[in-house]
Amino acid sequence: MIDSHCHLDFEQFDPDRDQVLSRCKQIGIDKIIIPGTQVSRWQAQVDLCASDDSLFFALGIHPYFVDSANISDLTKLDEMLMLYKKQVVALGEIGLDFHLPEAGHQKQQDFFIAQLELADKYQIPVILHHRKSHNETLRLLKQKRFSQGGVVHAFSGSVQEAKAYIDMGFMLGVGGTITYSRAQKTRETFKQIPLEVLVLETDAPDMPLNGRQGQRNSPEFLGEIAQQLAELKEIGIGEVIKQTRANSVQLFGLT
Ligand SMILES: [Zn+2]
Repeated sequence: MIDSHCHLDFEQFDPDRDQVLSRCKQIGIDKIIIPGTQVSRWQAQVDLCASDDSLFFALGIHPYFVDSANISDLTKLDEMLMLYKKQVVALGEIGLDFHLPEAGHQKQQDFFIAQLELADKYQIPVILHHRKSHNETLRLLKQKRFSQGGVVHAFSGSVQEAKAYIDMGFMLGVGGTITYSRAQKTRETFKQIPLEVLVLETDAPDMPLNGRQGQRNSPEFLGEIAQQLAELKEIGIGEVIKQTRANSVQLFGLT
C-alpha cells in the first residue's frame, strides 16, 4: 500500500518516527509521499527521504502558510525543484483554502498560480489542497490550461465536482473522511467514481479516522481507509489495494 499524503516530517512524529515507519513496513505500507508545506521545512523533508527508500517528497507552499510566505520563497522553491528534480515527485501541497480569512484570498490565488507555473516548468504533477474552493480552483486550472495533472488531496465533494477534476487529468485522494457516516455526499461520490482514478492517503498526523478523534493520525491506519473504500464499492480489499497502489505509482512516477 502507498500512503499518497502523509506529513511524517511533522514534529508530532519526532518521538517515534522510526518505530512508526517500521510498523508501516511490517503491515505492507511500502511507500509514503511527504508533501511540502512551507519553506522552512523543505530541507528536512529532503533529508528525511534520503534516509529511507520508502519515503518520497513533494515541495510546495501550503495555503495555510501563504500568509507568512514571501515572494522569495517562490524563488527558493524554483531553486529546490531544480536541485532535486530527479527526486521530487510532485509540487504541493498547494491550492486554495477559503475557510481562511478573506483578506488573504488574493495572495493565496497569486501563490497558487505561481506554483502551477512552476509545476509546468518542471513538468511534475501537483498535490491540491481544497476547502470551500472547488469552483475557483477549477477555474484557475482551466485558465492556466494546466496539463500536468496531479491529485486532489482529501477530496470531498460531489460526483460532478469529482468528474471536473478527472476530466482535467487529476486523480482523487481518498482519506479518513469516508470513515465517517456523516460524510454521505463524499462516500456516495467515491462509490460512483472508478477505482482507476483513486489513491489512498491518511494526511497524518491530521484527519483522525472515525473512532480515533482527538488522537494523532498515523500512516499505520491506511488499511482501514482501504477497507472502508472496499465496503463502499462492494469489492474486495485486495482489488482496492492493488489498483490504488498502481495509480499512485503512475501518478508520482515511483520506482
Ligand atoms: Zn496535508
